[in-house]
Amino acid sequence: LEPKEFSQESKKVIDFIADYYSNIEKYPVLSQVKPGYLKTELPDSAPYSPEPLEDILNDIDAKLMPGFTHWQSPNFFAYFQINASTAGFLGEMLCSGFNIINFCWLASPAATELEILVMDWMAKMLQLPPSFMSSGNGGGVLQSSTCEAIVCTLAAARDKVLAEVGYEAITKLVVYSSDQTHSSLQKGVKIVGIPPSNVRCLPTAFSEGFSLSPQTLEEAIRKDIMSGFIPLYLCGTVGTTACGAVDPIEKLGKVARKYNLWFHIDAAYAGSACICPEFRHYLDGVELADSLSMNPHKWFLTNMDCCCLWVKNPDSLIDSLSTNPEYLRNAPSESGNVVDYKDWQIPLSRRFRAMKLWVVIRRHGLATLRFHIRSDVKLATYFESKVAKDSRFEMVVPRKFALVCFRLKAGKDSKDDENLNKKLLQEVNESGNAFMTHAVVGGVYFIRCAVGSTLTEERHVEGLWKLIQEKATKVLLDAIV
Ligand code: PLP
Repeated sequence: LEPKEFSQESKKVIDFIADYYSNIEKYPVLSQVKPGYLKTELPDSAPYSPEPLEDILNDIDAKLMPGFTHWQSPNFFAYFQINASTAGFLGEMLCSGFNIINFCWLASPAATELEILVMDWMAKMLQLPPSFMSSGNGGGVLQSSTCEAIVCTLAAARDKVLAEVGYEAITKLVVYSSDQTHSSLQKGVKIVGIPPSNVRCLPTAFSEGFSLSPQTLEEAIRKDIMSGFIPLYLCGTVGTTACGAVDPIEKLGKVARKYNLWFHIDAAYAGSACICPEFRHYLDGVELADSLSMNPHKWFLTNMDCCCLWVKNPDSLIDSLSTNPEYLRNAPSESGNVVDYKDWQIPLSRRFRAMKLWVVIRRHGLATLRFHIRSDVKLATYFESKVAKDSRFEMVVPRKFALVCFRLKAGKDSKDDENLNKKLLQEVNESGNAFMTHAVVGGVYFIRCAVGSTLTEERHVEGLWKLIQEKATKVLLDAIV
């Protein structure tokens, strides 16, 4: 790592990335390559001698770029977006530029103390109760993903209960969610050793906006208790992946408190919107939860990766995840007066994500971050108004955030509708001009338009809608022929 060379080569890479962003609209949004395409493009063994940076950048351009799906394209409307911003890039550069690791406080005191501070800033922006902040005996940690946050909280909940009832009772522990909860809960359950059959994916209904009913939850808990099971953990969601549904946090929280369940709130996507007063009510009742997670890398202008996890009782995480090998022992840790983040997460080593989030918050400020959320919601509302004006289409669920769930409804029956919508989605995505994905909720197949790439403007949403209309006409004509 020679500073002069570092500076020169970094500038070349930054210019290369800047060019990419200047031209991003020219690429097909969804990669059109076939599986295994790269095998014939690149050598099958590593080079023996160093290669020039230019050759590597040329290969990226010529050989890798065709295999990229362009997540930062303004015409990317699939899954949930991963927001990038200049501040996010700069924060990420500083994070990897320093390349320090703060597994324990001593290993990099500023990194740990900045993380505590930045998690308190985030908690204040979301108006979380003091019990989730460092001043109130709670606290936050930055992890890579919601999946990881869920594993950690499941492990904490599991060990707390098993310490009381004995380890052999692990097969009796039950986890509650709705049929809309993200699959990260299922993965977490498998990892922590609870039988996957002990996850109750409680049914949701269109009439309740696909949110989890507190009555259904309570009935399931009672039934399990009667059958000798031990209710352990409830996952509520603010902004489900398929259709953006919101579970009634306060009511679910009361049930969780009544039966002493660990209550986790997964706000991976829509948590970012809750910095705006008009969306904050979706988190009402959060004081009844034990933990909450949200992903700034989704909708908070923070480049991958960044997941905020807050817990009311960090000791429960520490009891479950801490290890103390001799080589990591040190006086500050032993004093008990510092945070050692290694005990709040799965890996030992950790990225300096606090730097990135801190730069993002400082460079944008709360006002710009709110403006960013609101402009995406406005674009989604614009798209929704287009859907409403074309009688061949219908909205599948009312929109809450920047996700629009719609479908063509011109088929003879529901199977026919599904085939038409699949064909429409395929046509749109194969055009290379936009990328959307689908979901099935309540047995209905539909198309999701997730607005939120940082570069998306009204003209892109307009273009998307024109493309959808054109392809819908084709698909409907093809169906008649
Ligand atoms: N929870 C929700 C509601 C999500 O939408 C997603 C991903 O889209 C996840 C969890 C998984 O997040 P991660 O990729 O950070 O594990």
